[in-house]
Amino acid sequence: MTTNPIFANEAAARKHLEKLCWPNGPVCPHCGETEKIKLLRGKSHRPGLRQCNACRKSFTVTIGTVFEDSHIKLHKWLYAFSLMTASKKGISSHQLHRMLGVTYKTAWFMTHRIRESMKPDYFSAGMLGGQGPVEADETFIGTKPGAKKRKGYGHKNAVLSLVERGGEVRSFHVPGVSAKTLKPYLKYHIDPDAHLMTDDAGQYRILGPEFGQHEVVAHSNEEYVRGEAHTNTVEGFFSILKRGLIGTYQHVSVQHLQSYVTEFDFRYNHRAKLGYDDSDRTTEALKGIVGKRLTYRRLG
Ligand SMILES: [Zn+2]
Repeated sequence: MTTNPIFANEAAARKHLEKLCWPNGPVCPHCGETEKIKLLRGKSHRPGLRQCNACRKSFTVTIGTVFEDSHIKLHKWLYAFSLMTASKKGISSHQLHRMLGVTYKTAWFMTHRIRESMKPDYFSAGMLGGQGPVEADETFIGTKPGAKKRKGYGHKNAVLSLVERGGEVRSFHVPGVSAKTLKPYLKYHIDPDAHLMTDDAGQYRILGPEFGQHEVVAHSNEEYVRGEAHTNTVEGFFSILKRGLIGTYQHVSVQHLQSYVTEFDFRYNHRAKLGYDDSDRTTEALKGIVGKRLTYRRLG
């Protein structure tokens, strides 16, 4: 395994998670109390159990998260998070099953929950294109269920990616690549004043005028770079995505394709170039679980 105790020892893993979730000390998830909180010690209590003396309820740091009712030890969860966020191509459930010593079914469940925590909050993140040009392009992965192989891409699953140069990527499993289908994605995610870069596919001829500036490289005419105009950034992302999906996840089912591309987006958006090391990346993914817990409790 690894030398870091948070991946080998449950108490260390719990302390790590507590520090992450409660940087200023424990907060009662029931009433928001921060002062009158007592750690309950002794064998009769679950580890990390706290009593809130304001509302008289008890809680642990994992309350409301996937960790709370999980039979999987907390340090194994943290190790799985670290493996999945650190490896550029991702980790398959089979690899995780062998590395963690859990069943394949458990490993599969874990990888899906970790992907869930990697889901971005686009609403608070705002639109792409405030800093640099945005490249838009699509790639095709696997065959649609029941579709016959034929010429063109109609029978394949399409993934649209939008990348701001020097910034983040957002990828979507889209039902098709017509202007009508792509328009809502581009309008929602790209600033209307942004500088858009695409190839010369017909849908972008239609959608380009919706944005501040639109430059086209004529791929159909074998033109790939013209000064600043190119789509090399988004194509670079596609090559990581495709190598990862082919090498690591041989059988990506259509209903999970979005969560796989979200996973690749997450790693790209927390890459070393943007100042994240392996441990920061794991932390960001773990925050996702906590963030989802908060939303869940607020809604509940
Ligand atoms: Zn309370």
